[in-house]
Amino acid sequence: MLVQKYHCYISVMHKLLNGQNMIPLFTKLQEENYDNLAGNARDHSVSKGIVILCKDDQSSVKRYKCAPFSLFPSPITKDGFQLLTFLQPHINKLIHDVSQDDEFMSSVFQSVIKVDDFTKKLYNIYKASKTSVKQQLQLGIFRSDYMFDCVIEKNRTETNNPKQIEVNTIAASFIGLGSRINSVHCKVLKDAKMKPLTTQMPKNEALTKVAHGLVAAWETYGNSDAIVVFLVEENEANFFDQRALEYAIHEINESIIVKRKTFTELLKSIVLSSDRKITMNDEEVAVVYFRTGYTPNDYTNEQFWDVRLKLEKSCAILCPSVGYQLAGCKKMQEVLAQPNVLEKFIDDEDVVQKMRSTFAGLYALDMNSDGDNAVQMARTNPDHYVLKPQREGGGNNVYGEDIVTLLSEIGNDERRCAYILMEKICPKPLDNIFVTASGHQKVNAISEFGTYGVILTRGTEIIENYSAGHLLRSKSHEHNDGGVAAGVAVLDSPLLV
Ligand code: ADP
Ligand code: MG
Repeated sequence: MLVQKYHCYISVMHKLLNGQNMIPLFTKLQEENYDNLAGNARDHSVSKGIVILCKDDQSSVKRYKCAPFSLFPSPITKDGFQLLTFLQPHINKLIHDVSQDDEFMSSVFQSVIKVDDFTKKLYNIYKASKTSVKQQLQLGIFRSDYMFDCVIEKNRTETNNPKQIEVNTIAASFIGLGSRINSVHCKVLKDAKMKPLTTQMPKNEALTKVAHGLVAAWETYGNSDAIVVFLVEENEANFFDQRALEYAIHEINESIIVKRKTFTELLKSIVLSSDRKITMNDEEVAVVYFRTGYTPNDYTNEQFWDVRLKLEKSCAILCPSVGYQLAGCKKMQEVLAQPNVLEKFIDDEDVVQKMRSTFAGLYALDMNSDGDNAVQMARTNPDHYVLKPQREGGGNNVYGEDIVTLLSEIGNDERRCAYILMEKICPKPLDNIFVTASGHQKVNAISEFGTYGVILTRGTEIIENYSAGHLLRSKSHEHNDGGVAAGVAVLDSPLLV
């Protein structure tokens, strides 16, 4: 019975994405008892290491639980998947080229740095170190995130085209856990006797491909005694995701020494020599991979900014450099979406057109008439927009009536330049079952799809540049914001339709 019902579920998903008549997903399934399927999937996910730390646990022995995930994979259009995988190396190169263009960077950030202290600090480091690092090796591990906007056309057909939410250029997470969830979903489909559907699930090699990037950077640095440092937060819930990457590096080259360090530990131990080498307790550092440093809260001590500057002035390969970090800011996304800007950096018209097709409406709130118009649009139709500050890590965006309140409070003040306004993307919600460590529940969910990319560069030389797997996360359509770490979203994987 379950098999037939699941068939029905999948055929409904096809219809949903092909614009045919919709019937609510799971209507045939809801009486079914999912305890077994969910319980087995939970066991399987733990055995695959899809776990997070229990943060509330005070004991000194680490305790962990399974990371939240969806019981079923979620549909993504095959065309969209292929387009976004194709675009990622071009996005990698774009981020690199933008970060190398001092004049462009200065024009983009001039309004923001007047009112956003965090961006200003990053920008000042970029300016202070830029001249010394023109030929510097840099490593980017990026993730471009998208939602598939569901639009009913005039002829009543439905389209689900991907629209870029943001490009993460620092600490893009779930490379490890996200790529493993695929095997859990394959098992669920097999348990439900739906094995043929597994052929619609694309392989996800994010972990090995990103590890390859870190290994390539270490090799290019050229000192086999030098170490790789993972710069991390203390008490990080997503600890095992980071560990998975460390172990994947060792699968490729077991001689590479990886050390996990916090900002506090670097502050105490790093030395910058006159030949620009960074040493930490007398060990030379080849690569610093940031899994922290992207929010003001990560700089609890002002001296962490000195650490950042010291690293930036060194010849160690930073992942990311402060230039790459800045090039992933929301303000940059808004400027790149303006007419004729992509053309400055990308020669191939076809690539420009394809990339632009993924951009949602983006508007600056600068102190000019365009900015005034954007404010007016947002105040008139707040539900059509998202107001975004220059922050990363979830939970910072402003929605609905809160947009009106905030813009009224700011008034005609320069503080508005710290935000961008973005058209709200509305994916079609689909029913799924979310499994957590303690249970499972039915959720009407929307998904966010990300493509990872790796780029290794030396000045204008591109040493590595490739698309590196993907991530799908889903959350209840009732939540505007929030990721897996915030307990809102769950890990998912795509089923291509
Ligand atoms: P962050 O750096 O905090 O991750 P994002 O731009 O990714 O910032 O926004 C956080 C979340 O807010 C996204 O994961 C998505 O769920 C939601 N979101 C962001 N932009 C939009 C948008 N334009 N339309 C709909 N939801 C959005
Ligand atoms: Mg995000």
